[in-house]
Amino acid sequence: MSCLNRFMLWMTAVAMPLPGAVSFRAQLGEVIDFLACVYDDVGYPLQNQPVYWIVSAAAFSGFHSHNQPIRSPGFLSPASGSITGADGCARGTYFATDVAGVHWIEAWAYTAVGFVYDYMEVQVRVFPDLLELPNYYPYQKVGVQPEHPLSHYGTFGALFTLQRICEEFFQRTGMIAGINDMSLPWGGRFDLGPRYGGQWWSAPHSSHMYGRNADIPYRFLGPYRDLFEQIAIKHRAALYFESDHFHLTLPD
Ligand SMILES: [Zn+2]
Ligand SMILES: [Zn+2]
Repeated sequence: MSCLNRFMLWMTAVAMPLPGAVSFRAQLGEVIDFLACVYDDVGYPLQNQPVYWIVSAAAFSGFHSHNQPIRSPGFLSPASGSITGADGCARGTYFATDVAGVHWIEAWAYTAVGFVYDYMEVQVRVFPDLLELPNYYPYQKVGVQPEHPLSHYGTFGALFTLQRICEEFFQRTGMIAGINDMSLPWGGRFDLGPRYGGQWWSAPHSSHMYGRNADIPYRFLGPYRDLFEQIAIKHRAALYFESDHFHLTLPD
């Protein structure tokens, strides 16, 4: 009885992996076409072969140190699999979630000569990579919560502007501004959870996904809230007034 060699060949419409790699990157909410192909032991495509697949999210991935309830991994279409064509390939589409993390698309088939399986890893994350806000004298990083131990990441441009704003505010007032939530290291939905009146994996943080937002609590600004606002606007940041903090959108 013949047996199958490693059979699946993954391809996407957006990016080919390096030779031998099984990991792809996808932006938040990206739509990726993929193929799951089945060949026999001499490399001949198996036609009309049902192929099944599933997508799942790795627990605690994407810098979320919480895992309840289970997050949505996005979804596949067709949902549970497809049939191979003359080229031996079944075609599907992955609709990525906007929660950053490691996702696995697994596929398998019960062929005439046995069971075959393979998988592909998709890292859903913002790229180019976000950078961590460095420690620096004119500001202090505040508000880190155990569910998101790393929460001060942003684009290079956003970090640069935030530093210039805080430098100027410190020079004029002698006060060290506090910087609360920015973005997670891989970006994506920054969920605040029930303690803050929200739900895991969803709002209230509706932005903070792409490394261009920072929350500045009023309590570190003393009587100089208006001055902070003027300085931020001068540096082309947009401000939104929340109950206890400024929500900044920084130029990239
Ligand atoms: Zn989270
Ligand atoms: Zn905010």
